[in-house]
Amino acid sequence: MKKQDAVVHFKVETSGLTANEKKVLRYLVAAAEAVGPIYVEQENSSYLGSNFYPHSASKEEILDAAGNNPKILSPYTIVERNRDGDLIAIPYHIKFKDKLEIVAKHLRSAAKITERKDFAERLYLQASALLDGNYEASDIYWLTMKPYRLDIAIGPLDKLDDRLFFKKTSYESWVGIEDKKATEKAGIIQHAIYDVKRKIFATREKADFLEKTKMRVEKTSVFSGLFARGMFTSNSLPIDPQLMEKYGIRITFFDTSLDVKFSSQHYPIYQKIFERNFQKEYPRDLLREGSFRNVHLHEIGHSLLRYKDSERRLRENFPIVDELSATIYGIKSCGSLVLKGIMTEKEIEAIMIMFVCRAFTWWLDSKRQKSVEAFAIGHAIALNHFISTGALRESEGISWPNFTKMFMAIEELSDSLERLISIGSYEDARAFIEKYGSFMVYSRFASRLKGMT
Ligand SMILES: [Zn+2]
Repeated sequence: MKKQDAVVHFKVETSGLTANEKKVLRYLVAAAEAVGPIYVEQENSSYLGSNFYPHSASKEEILDAAGNNPKILSPYTIVERNRDGDLIAIPYHIKFKDKLEIVAKHLRSAAKITERKDFAERLYLQASALLDGNYEASDIYWLTMKPYRLDIAIGPLDKLDDRLFFKKTSYESWVGIEDKKATEKAGIIQHAIYDVKRKIFATREKADFLEKTKMRVEKTSVFSGLFARGMFTSNSLPIDPQLMEKYGIRITFFDTSLDVKFSSQHYPIYQKIFERNFQKEYPRDLLREGSFRNVHLHEIGHSLLRYKDSERRLRENFPIVDELSATIYGIKSCGSLVLKGIMTEKEIEAIMIMFVCRAFTWWLDSKRQKSVEAFAIGHAIALNHFISTGALRESEGISWPNFTKMFMAIEELSDSLERLISIGSYEDARAFIEKYGSFMVYSRFASRLKGMT
């Protein structure tokens, strides 16, 4: 596959699958592949609004048009100019009809041969949703069906490419096979965190769905669209808090892409920016686990911090605050796990070390993939906070953490972020990001990271 197709294949162990499941898997992968070219038409990292809006339109003009026609800011339309020069909204399923028919054909082929009735139903619903633009029935079915070891997510899902308004969704897909053992282990930590009582801001707006949260660790077979570009290590769906509250969420961890990121980025960064004697205390396996825990805690954090009105209040600042607060809140929650003996102190330290390394990964990634910029800005806020509180000391690009101070800094930061996400205003978020989000903190380490991409 060529890079411009926005498709990434992974080697995945299929020996545990039946002959029928292997055939089904092939059709699912074909469907995912067929989504790549649609994404390629949407993406454009040189413009804040990607290709979702005409590049000649100002933010004001778009908002103005949306005042008369709410479809302009729908997550599922492309905005174009008509012959008179007015802005009009064209639904995705019409704009990309020909390409979507190919995707739907593969999904239906998989549905026809699978021996699982409910999975077949899910695939038929998904195929129809892609073609008629009504995603809800299909989403609800997926959220409430009994999980099956094969899974696919496909369609216009994440809004990260719309850095202008954080409204438009990008086409993407993944296909994976459940890793049962890793899923069970992750479940233990998740429930231990959910069991702790918490204080809650803005109770009225809080979206609560913990009992309806399903979580699994997967070996991934293919990523396409925005997933292939962002090489994400986890995902949580749906993105609509109303649906979340009613039907719960499905969190998926992509252990395969985490493997790739850990060995090509997280671990090499660790070796470059941490002091040599310090490194002796943390074996590679412990850090690999620490890296996974960051992703795991991030999604746990998300599930605990959903407020129905955050997006409306924080607008395009929302993803920055949302993505950072999830990880920080998740790590903070580990404090109680150490006290209960579910996690060791060394394990938490590995989580914090990997938080720092992952910050640099986001920074490096954001240079070529603008859709992950929100993560890079968020992590810069945390690093700046660590440096200013003495939690991370730095000299010539080499650092030494002070874990007690770092945990305190995380608790402090978590409080500020929780306030922003639950009751903060647009201006509060803007001011917070401008004050702490400087990328200078990354530049201090830049010479150590030369040649890394
Ligand atoms: Zn997230």
